Amino acid sequence: MKKIAVLTSGGDAPGMNAAIRAVVRCANAAGFEVFGVNHGYTGLINGDFRLLGNRDVSGIIQAGGTILGSSRSPEFETEAGRQKAIDVLKKQQIEALVVIGGDGSQTGAHLLNQMGFPVAGVASTIDNDLYGTDQSIGVDTALNIALEAIDRLKVTASSHQRAHIVETMGRNHGYLALMAGIAGGAEYVVIPEIETNPDIIAEEIKTTYRRGKSHCLIVVAEGAYWNAERLLAHFKQNVDLGYSLRATTLGHVQRGGAPTAFDRLLATRLGAAAVNELEAGNSGVLLGLSCGEIKATPYSEVISHKKTLDLAILDTAEKLAR
Ligand code: ADP
Repeated sequence: MKKIAVLTSGGDAPGMNAAIRAVVRCANAAGFEVFGVNHGYTGLINGDFRLLGNRDVSGIIQAGGTILGSSRSPEFETEAGRQKAIDVLKKQQIEALVVIGGDGSQTGAHLLNQMGFPVAGVASTIDNDLYGTDQSIGVDTALNIALEAIDRLKVTASSHQRAHIVETMGRNHGYLALMAGIAGGAEYVVIPEIETNPDIIAEEIKTTYRRGKSHCLIVVAEGAYWNAERLLAHFKQNVDLGYSLRATTLGHVQRGGAPTAFDRLLATRLGAAAVNELEAGNSGVLLGLSCGEIKATPYSEVISHKKTLDLAILDTAEKLAR
């Protein structure tokens, strides 16, 4: 193999740059030419490529975001769009592709691989909703950013005897909210995986007030029906909670940070492993982390399974909130 390409797709995640750097330098060490694809699958279909040498990925390991840019490409979801991408790759004599991205991006990569083009995936999403890896690139950084915000909000909430709702990202997966809630000492966590109703949350807040706590922290996932906006509107109209109430939605702040040591190392290991797989002639796999080891899982397995959240820890969270 002489030429490979690398792209980042879907939601950006801190550590994507470290993965690009690892792919480029490991591939160059293996004697491949590496083309970076600008703006994910959109750039793939349009042939928006640039040759990446080792110096082109200098000084990026500590940077959030992605130097290649990302996109959402409805055209790539069609077979015709994917065929166009394959034609473009073949015209450039590129023989394999590394896709750094989340659930949707890896589904697209699987379909491209099924159409006969070799692909290796690198698990990268702050949502941690991708099967085949214990943790994806970006999760640790997003969690730490959420925690920094939570710690600060607790300080001001305590000063004013407030209940504070903090909404985290995570799409329909509650991982970020649950882990941020536990690590941030939340009194209550609202996640999409567990149905709840605002009366139960109100009771929790009142109970916390009666226990004499100076604040009550409620962490909610953006994908939960009772997200920050709905809870705030509901409580403002109907309920006396004891505390006064405020809400903060962390939003994209969680994505933009410099990757933590964990994410830089994970991204580096996964990027290097993707090149190793392609060099060995393997494709159609997602590189992820399993019990501390880097593992290649076949795309067919990744795509046919849903990553579930281990809810056993909720029991502990409940005890810790008392
Ligand atoms: P993420 O990879 O972060 O989950 P998205 O779900 O937005 O982000 O997916 C990113 C891109 O991957 C989409 O814009 C689309 O081009 C491609 N993609 C997503 N789902 C599919 C699918 N079912 N088939 C083909 N391509 C897909």
